[in-house]
Amino acid sequence: MSDPIGQIHEHDNQAWFHPWEYLPDVGHNQRSIIQRAEGIHVFDEHGQRLIDGPGGMWCMQIGYGRKEMAEAIAEQALRMPYMNPFSLTSEAPTRLAAKLAELAPGDLKRVFLTTGGSTAVDTALRFVHFYNNLKGRPGKKHIISREHAYHGSTYLGATVTGKDRDRNWFDINTGLSHFLPSVNPAGRPAGMSLQAFCDARVADLENKILELGADKVGAFIAEPIQASGGVIVPPEGYLKRCWEICRRHDVLFIADEVVTGFGRLGHWFASEAVFGIQPDLITCAKGLTSGYLPLGAMLLSERLFQEVSGSNANGASFGHGFTYSGHPVCCAAALKSIEIIEREQLLQHVRALSPHFLERLHALREIPLVFDTRGMGLVGCVECRVRPLVESGMDGSELYAFETELGMRIDRHCHELGLMVRPLTNLCVFSPPLVIQRDEVDQMLDILHEAILRTQ
Ligand code: PLP
Repeated sequence: MSDPIGQIHEHDNQAWFHPWEYLPDVGHNQRSIIQRAEGIHVFDEHGQRLIDGPGGMWCMQIGYGRKEMAEAIAEQALRMPYMNPFSLTSEAPTRLAAKLAELAPGDLKRVFLTTGGSTAVDTALRFVHFYNNLKGRPGKKHIISREHAYHGSTYLGATVTGKDRDRNWFDINTGLSHFLPSVNPAGRPAGMSLQAFCDARVADLENKILELGADKVGAFIAEPIQASGGVIVPPEGYLKRCWEICRRHDVLFIADEVVTGFGRLGHWFASEAVFGIQPDLITCAKGLTSGYLPLGAMLLSERLFQEVSGSNANGASFGHGFTYSGHPVCCAAALKSIEIIEREQLLQHVRALSPHFLERLHALREIPLVFDTRGMGLVGCVECRVRPLVESGMDGSELYAFETELGMRIDRHCHELGLMVRPLTNLCVFSPPLVIQRDEVDQMLDILHEAILRTQ
């Protein structure tokens, strides 16, 4: 494929309706065109090499251009590109399900394969409803989520997404959803200790369950680290205490590990290894195939599965699934990506590299424009101060507004210097390919440092 640059822009503006399309810009968008990618780098239409700071969209674990991935995909596509997952079975999805059950914490031994993260979350939420109906508790359907949460773009996923910006304009019915206040320690009131903040946020969950009645609450859903909400790392002990509360009140705990799974925090899954919890359900996607092909999964506790199957099934089938559940080619890609992560010991690599990445990231706090830096494993974020802008009104009076797109300005400078970041209003987020090396981390953070200075 070699369309001229102008043609790509023309097709982009006239035909492709992008996710999160900012509609006022349609017709005159000049998005960077990415022509190819290799290792941790992507190459734009001018041939410029950029470090892929966001790792695609938090998904590029093993790096671009892996020949053995292409071969595994091609081999499966030639042998059998598709199989009806409702009534048949085959090697790639069964092998993947068994592998995920082996890697998952605790008794999460049942694997429902989906097409991505949103459909994994959708599956988990539908399972919670199904489970409680089957158990004769049809009222137990309220879901507790949190501000800044992102759980996907299916309708159900959106009902538990705690970012107004993502729900605006859609009239999403959040009648069964409840959003607890932000767990971002940087936003706590001045003078409040971290411990007091943690206590308060944990109490929010228990209070909400008591207010609604435990017999009405089906599940609590939480990303171990809120990713697109701004890389929000909860205070230490928060998740474990929330998990204990859920157990006490018979509320299912859904850990949305779409971002934190597959090595991002140095482990296959962060729930148990990093946070000491054994969720009832885990949702995952992205790094599952290292972004080479779309795939997601819901991992389910064997205990729950037994409660709804066999002689407990009461004649029910789980009437949910997708044409592409367990797509053999996507499963072959996942198996190969997992094999590469194991063979190259990328989990250990992330654990060894993370302290240096975080030290360099936190050093950016000395720049006056930087309000906060946050991170864990190989995911991080820089938050800029929100600066007031003073403009003159028509009548000469002063109008106050706030600068809200500093991330975009930093991104532009980064691009000139050879780094791609993911700007989110005043934030720049990072989740580089896990194969990134120490000198490349330095390069990435040197560029970011310079770009922020140029933005001041
Ligand atoms: N859950 C979390 C935590 C995510 O970050 C995302 C995507 O960013 C999703 C769910 C949705 O995943 P997908 O975009 O693959 O549908």
